[in-house]
This record gives sequence, C-alpha cells and structure tokens, in this order.
Amino acid sequence: MEIKYKSTRDNNVNIKASDAILRGLSDDGGLFVPKNLKDIKIDMNEFKELNYKELAVEILSMFFSDFSTDEIIYSVNNAYDEKFDTCEIVPIKHIDEYNILELFHGRTLAFKDVALSILPYLMKLSKEKHNIQENILILTATSGDTGKAALEGFKDVEGISIAVFYPDGGVSNIQELQMKTQEGTNTYIFGVKGNFDDAQNTVKKTFRSEEIKKKLAEENTILSSANSINIGRLIPQIVYYFSAYVDLIKNKKIVKDEKINFVVPTGNFGNILAGYIAKEIGLPINKLICASNENNVLTDFFNTGKYNINRKFIKTISPSMDILISSNLERLLFFLSDGDSNYIKKIMEDLYNNGEYHVTKEIKQKMSNIFWSDYSTENEILKTIGNLYKEKEYLIDTHTAVAFNVYDKYKNQTGDFTKSVILSTASPFKFIESIYDALQIEKEEEVKELLLDFSKRFNVEIPKSLKEIMNKQYTHNKVIEIEEVKNEIFKITKKEDKKCLK
Ligand SMILES: *Cc1c(COP(=O)(O)O)cnc(C)c1O
Repeated sequence: MEIKYKSTRDNNVNIKASDAILRGLSDDGGLFVPKNLKDIKIDMNEFKELNYKELAVEILSMFFSDFSTDEIIYSVNNAYDEKFDTCEIVPIKHIDEYNILELFHGRTLAFKDVALSILPYLMKLSKEKHNIQENILILTATSGDTGKAALEGFKDVEGISIAVFYPDGGVSNIQELQMKTQEGTNTYIFGVKGNFDDAQNTVKKTFRSEEIKKKLAEENTILSSANSINIGRLIPQIVYYFSAYVDLIKNKKIVKDEKINFVVPTGNFGNILAGYIAKEIGLPINKLICASNENNVLTDFFNTGKYNINRKFIKTISPSMDILISSNLERLLFFLSDGDSNYIKKIMEDLYNNGEYHVTKEIKQKMSNIFWSDYSTENEILKTIGNLYKEKEYLIDTHTAVAFNVYDKYKNQTGDFTKSVILSTASPFKFIESIYDALQIEKEEEVKELLLDFSKRFNVEIPKSLKEIMNKQYTHNKVIEIEEVKNEIFKITKKEDKKCLK
C-alpha cells in the first residue's frame, strides 16, 4: 500500500515519504503527516517473535513506501550496528515493579541516537531518488543532545555536511567534551556567544533568508535540517514502543494483547507522539503519560485545554526538555481534529500572534482519554535520583528522573496499576554533575577526573564512546558571535563545494 504525506496546515499537499524527508517542513509552515494513517494496521501475531532490526524493517517499510525493501534493510543495518553498545539496541531492564526501556545505548548516550543513526541513510537515499546533485548542508542549533547525535549520524556521509551551533558555556561538560572532539571531514561545530534561544533563532532566520539561500545556490548547496519534526526521525521512534512490548511478552511480564502504559519525559513532543502513532496502528496502549519539567506548558495544556507560552523560560537540570513550543504537538492536534487542516492553521496563528490557543471540548476529551500529564520540580528530580539509587541501586539521569517521579504521581492520583514502561532517555554518564548533587557527593572539576571518579565510585564501566574521547585533544574550539553565523556558513559551503570538484 502506498503511503503519501500531507501537511497539517494543508490537506491538499500530496508528497512521497522521500520528499517529506528532504523537505523537513511544509512550505505552509505545517508538518508532514501520513495521509491515510488509519489504513496502517499491524498484526501483533506477526511481530511477537521479531528482534529490533526486523521490527524496524517491518514498520519503516509501511511508512516509507517509496523506499524498496532493500533500501530499508540497508538503512536499518547501517544504523543499528556496533555504534550501539548492545545488540538489543534498546534493552529493557526490570527493577522490581519498574520496566525501564533504556534508549541511551548509542554513540552519544541519549535517545536521539535511535532516530539520528538512521536519518542520514534515509536522507542520502531520498537525495538519490530525487536526483539532487547539490550538497546538502544540515544546520542544527542544539542545547546539547541533538547536535552531537546529528554529528555522529551525518559524519562522513557523502554529499551531506553538517554545522552545529551550541550555546558557549550552556551545555554540560560531558556534552562539551563530546562536541569539541567530534570527528568527520564534513562536520563543523561552533560555540555561540548567547543562549540556546539565540542560537536557535539565528538558525531559523538562516532557513528563511532568501539572500542566504541564493548565495548558497551559487555554491551548489541547499539547506536541510535534522530536527525532530522530520518524519525521518519521528517514524523510526515508533519501533522501540513495539520492541518494548515484544520484550515484555518474551519475558512473560505481560500476555499478548494486554494493554500497558508508557511514561515519556517530554520536550518537543517527538518521542511521545511516536507512542501515539504506535497506538493508532495497533499497539495495545492504555495511557501515554507525558512527563514535563518546570517548563510545564504541556502539563497545563493537557489539564486545561489551553496552550500558553506567555511565561518565563526556566533553565533546568533536564535541559533537553527545556522548551516552550513543543512542535510535534501540532501533529497530535491534527489527528485529534480528524485532519482539519484549517482548524490547525487557525490555532497555530493564534499561537504565533498571541502566544496561546484553546482547543475544543471535544479535542480536550479525546486528549484525556489517551494522555495523562504532570511535572517535576528541580527538587523532586534530585530526590528521585537519590531515592532510586538508595533503594534499588539503579542510577538514572535527570530526564529519566522526571519520568519516574511523574509515574509515581500518576499511580498515587489515579490508582491505576496497569503495567507500565518508563522511557529512559539519557545515560547517567551524561549528567554526572546532577547525580552528584542528588547524592550529595563532592564533584571533581575536570571532566576526565569526573568520569573516572564516577566509574570507580559506582563500579560502572565508562561507555566506549566516552573512553575514546576523554584523552583526546579538542579539535573544534571555535566560539563566535551571533552575527558571525552567516559568514561561517558561507565559508563551509565554499570549502565543501571545492571538495566535490576534486
Ligand atoms: C530530546 C530529549 C528529550 C525530549 O524528547 P522530545 O522528543 O523532544 O519530547 C528527553 N530526554 C532527553 C535526554 C533528550 O535528549
């Protein structure tokens, strides 16, 4: 069956998956969604014996129907190899009543590796399908996790280069180490003097600037993005919801067709939206529990039906969830409004003009049937990390701690003890400083010393990808002013264009 994609803001858009992967965002500002999601239905009987890669091939083939099976298999095999430190790719751990889906076994130790390991292959194939001769330059602003995962995914991919901008002094010291030691002949990394929003706004402006695009065209370059609204990132995330379910059956924790909950630490709403799509195509899900940090826009929204960003942006210890506009929510509202693109266009205009919108009673009701939401304060995050370690000797990072804490609140408030899976989105190694704060341990200043101390103290091996870089010289040390971003982009395209002529 062929699956085409339309825009959340225009039902008349009708493009192939490969086209949507290349374009990222629709020209009308909307996000691409499958035209006929209701036609995709999976049969759990066929899935329950499959391993991760086999599941990925099955699911991606359904959504990316203009890719051949060979192309999907090629992408899956290249994405999910030794880059992950376990052949299970996304293992599930059982600690007493908790089922924890560890999504952080990729190169950069965060869940974004799962999607960003495969996106480059999908993009390269899409480029070939559409006979695009130009170089593609991926531009990404990052608060830490996305940029590094994208760099690892795209490094040395032919015909594509990548530039990442992070706030100088605004990422954890492990993240800084990861970024500054990046390998690859097509990778460009810049610290930017400013905060994440400054970096993000500059990148967004670059995408909109006709002047820049024109100049880049002269250098044989087109721009693209790797952010989480791309369907090439969203769809691969559906796979681990199925793999978690299959593992629970294999481990005899549930019986086939038993409904379960998923608890998801949420920022841009990409991860949890993949869970919603999994449910829509037939995975037995009871509730999706949306866990926020103190930037609790989503919690307020699920509880009141009003989305309101007129509030202070708070910098928290779970920085990858520090976000006020959760872009992927637009897709959920599109589905819940039965595909009413005019309605979505209107509420997105409200958001743009007034910083808020309300949804109808009907949509609010549908949301409550599927989702439940609450948030954690900074203090609750630290306490959760401390208690879990003291009681179960299991270490979690700050983002995963939000999920644990909100899951406890869910059980207390609803009395629902349906079996649940908690999505663990980052390795504790990535946020050691906060774990030390939680356990009231004094911190080493130097990042290498910190890693060694952590490893020894908790008797856990330093992940291979960190071991490889902890003694390395910094090769990317450039810090630039916001105003210099444009010129640096021009410099990159000149260099990359010359490379191609050779
Ligand atoms: C990106 C990220 C999240 C948030 O995921 P969304 O898809 O943006 O909701 C949560 N935890 C970690 C560690 C992340 O890197």
